[in-house]
Amino acid sequence: MKGRVLIVEDEHMTARLVRRELEKALPLPVQVADSYRATRELVEREGASAFSVALVDLHLPDSTPGEALDHLLQLGIPCIVFTGEFSDELREQMVARRVIDYVLKENSASVQVVAKLILRIHRNQGIKVLVVDDSRTARRYLAELLARHQFQVLEAESGEEALDLLEQHREVYLVITDYHMPGMDGFELTQRIRARFDLNRLAIIGLSAHGNNLLSARFIKHGANDFISKPFLEEEFYCRVTQNIVLMETIRALEEASVRDALTGLHNRRYFTEAGGQLFANLRRGQLEIVVAMIDLDHFKRINDTFGHEAGDAVLKAVGQTLAACVRETDILARVGGEEFCVLLVNTSPAGAAALFERMRRAVEEAAIAYAGASLSITASFGVCTLAKESLQAMVNAADDLLYQAKNLGRNRVIRDR
Ligand code: GH3
Ligand code: MG
Ligand code: MG
Repeated sequence: MKGRVLIVEDEHMTARLVRRELEKALPLPVQVADSYRATRELVEREGASAFSVALVDLHLPDSTPGEALDHLLQLGIPCIVFTGEFSDELREQMVARRVIDYVLKENSASVQVVAKLILRIHRNQGIKVLVVDDSRTARRYLAELLARHQFQVLEAESGEEALDLLEQHREVYLVITDYHMPGMDGFELTQRIRARFDLNRLAIIGLSAHGNNLLSARFIKHGANDFISKPFLEEEFYCRVTQNIVLMETIRALEEASVRDALTGLHNRRYFTEAGGQLFANLRRGQLEIVVAMIDLDHFKRINDTFGHEAGDAVLKAVGQTLAACVRETDILARVGGEEFCVLLVNTSPAGAAALFERMRRAVEEAAIAYAGASLSITASFGVCTLAKESLQAMVNAADDLLYQAKNLGRNRVIRDR
């Protein structure tokens, strides 16, 4: 989070639990004030801008209910209300004060609820949402709701403008669009966005007038992820927005995990084959030069046998980092087997590749790997294929043959085809 989290809570136990939940997930700096007076003093001393969100108890021993909340809201600090009692009247008051949300203190699970909410708000700061509505008033209202939950908000007054903005801001996560708009309507916009962005890349929520169920259904049929009928309760709006974003984040995290090796964090064989295959297709069209190298650690089994499997894991992690530090963003580095790595370099000359792999070999050899108070070392053998072949697999096989030669010639060396 840009700033700190302020917890205004006179029950020390509750404050401590919330802080602990937050710290489990993120190193968010947290400050606690246990009375109205302490709150005023803290904010005066640190400045309101130091805090990006406050969790506020409505009842403090030295104030009337909600006094601390009003004080913080007046200073422009976004607030989440944590309250022991709840009524429809209180809800109305909270909505009118434009708090981020209110959470009922019911049981120990409530602490997790607020902590999750604060983390959600923190994540929202990195998420762009595009609001499309020809009515300026409606647009401003939606934008204000989203900004309150700290999303980065973009606004478009027509479908055409929305498509332009999406071109410029390809990282937009969610589009919220009205149906009735002059020119391109919400359905057409949804359809045109879907033609370019997958359901799991970019979520679309359609807004339709209350009582028109057909409109809602048709939004989904045109490719929207969800719809909201107007007028809506703020709570419903936030639920829908959050649910759609969490779903997309989960899918992205799963996709990312499926192409990563859990131990080293490097890409895995699957990614190497898929992304490497695409690069190879470009090579065939003459656009790119590709170099493929196979790397295998030398006598790695001895590390396991001598120091244990965990030491072996630590060595694999460290070697992964050493190799990663040597390649560029555009290159592919993957752990493709137990102690085997594969590198694919793009647009590198044979001489450049020779220098790079020699540098890598030395970096592995020279690394002192700290493990349980000891310093471990390892070497690696390299087989490097620079001559283009009919398939990526053929280049991998050629690199593997060269690696085999490197092993036979005594290990800790780079063998190239030229
Ligand atoms: P060479 O120089 O001929 O490559 O010898 P080596 O010992 O490195 O090769 P070998 O193929 O005989 O042994 C590889 C070992 O790597 C055997 C296996 O138990 C170990 N290994 C594979 N995956 C992992 C892993 O994820 N963690 C650990 N700690 N060890 C692993
Ligand atoms: Mg080995
Ligand atoms: Mg091996």
